[in-house]
Amino acid sequence: MTATERPLATTNLDAAARIVWDVLVIGAGPAGAMAAREAARRGASVLLVDRVRFPRTKVCGCCLNGAALGILRDTGLGELPQQCGAPALSAFHLACRGRSATVPLTEGVSLSRDRLDAELIKAAIMEGASFLDQTQAIINATEATHCRVELKSEADPTSASAKIVVVAGGLGCRAFADTEGDERQMADSSRVGAGTVLAEAPDEYATGTIYMACHRDGYAGLVRLEDGRLDIAAALDAAAIKRRGGVGPLIEELLRSSGLPLPATMAEAKWHGTARLTQRRQRLFGDRHFVIGDAAGYVEPFTGEGMAWALATGRAVVPLVLESLDAGTRLTGPAWERAQHNLIGSRMRLCRLVSQSLRSPLLVQLAVQLLSWMPSLARPVVRSLNNPFATQ
Ligand SMILES: Cc1cc2nc3c(=O)[nH]c(=O)nc-3n(C[C@H](O)[C@H](O)[C@H](O)COP(=O)(O)OP(=O)(O)OC[C@H]3O[C@@H](n4cnc5c(N)ncnc54)[C@H](O)[C@@H]3O)c2cc1C
Repeated sequence: MTATERPLATTNLDAAARIVWDVLVIGAGPAGAMAAREAARRGASVLLVDRVRFPRTKVCGCCLNGAALGILRDTGLGELPQQCGAPALSAFHLACRGRSATVPLTEGVSLSRDRLDAELIKAAIMEGASFLDQTQAIINATEATHCRVELKSEADPTSASAKIVVVAGGLGCRAFADTEGDERQMADSSRVGAGTVLAEAPDEYATGTIYMACHRDGYAGLVRLEDGRLDIAAALDAAAIKRRGGVGPLIEELLRSSGLPLPATMAEAKWHGTARLTQRRQRLFGDRHFVIGDAAGYVEPFTGEGMAWALATGRAVVPLVLESLDAGTRLTGPAWERAQHNLIGSRMRLCRLVSQSLRSPLLVQLAVQLLSWMPSLARPVVRSLNNPFATQ
């Protein structure tokens, strides 16, 4: 296993502004990097832009399920997790109010987001995509044949043109100059995400097990990464964070009440947050753009599927993107909304159901009790989460 190498920008603002790109992808997370790689593989000229510098951390449980691994395999990236030293996941340990149950897992790995995202970007570059980091991209105007996208970095802003833009900016991203373009529906009761990565943690946290602490104010997942660090990612009630005086104290309460060990270094941890988790856009396309990944919609992280959805939509959108280069999205846009619904609609519904059930402390305690007696009861759910997406 080697350390995470920084994916270097392969172009600059001036050069990016001189070309009319076939495809410009906003956001280099799993959805954007996958879309950029697939489009470049099929011969399109592609510019992949992200506002931050990589490698970067991201609030995430860092668990790739069987469905996500299946997409990596299908697209020729099956070796990537192993090359990064990603540990295989063999157990899910659910803890609530001092009781716990351990469910066996047959698929999945844990891999840090700094490493995974950097490797996916490098894979896109290898296929011919151009990459520009530390640059914010905002769709300024849509003309008959292309979109104009403002690129802002520390240097003077400039404008690039692309026949089709793929918006893959994640939760809460701003990708449009007009605020209407970024409007989403958000549930008032939606939880927010928070996370950190600890360099040191108690030995009780074994490699290959996902530890999940559940509480009425939210839940926190803990997992060892490829380099032994401990990732902590949580979905929390915003009001409870305020009541407890911050994310750190609330997660301490979650772990303590669940009976999971408290990492001593947590007191100094720097916590990162997210926008509200449960959100979706009304429209997943415009005249010359498509929306994919979390930017299109997200539910909650308990079932650990967001990266699978991101990779799946990043791959699936590409044939429609290429079909739209000349004529725009009049026909392909509605087709994309149907395809996205068919691809992940039922998975999102299951995730919503599980997330709602977690709001009932009684149901969670009952589930822990039942699973502690009979862990095999979780098998159908685990199987359906790992189910591969249909290949195209
Ligand atoms: C607490 C928590 C735990 C989770 N645990 C898991 C898990 O264990 N397994 C799992 O599969 N999923 C998990 N997820 C979900 C997963 O993190 C997301 O679903 C996934 O990252 C979505 O990928 P994406 O590419 O759509 O967006 P992101 O990964 O968010 O990437 C978006 C990128 O776009 C960039 N960007 C945004 N706006 C702009 C702009 N205007 N210009 C340029 N760049 C821009 C951002 O900098 C970012 O790099 C979890 C999420 C949370 C909140």
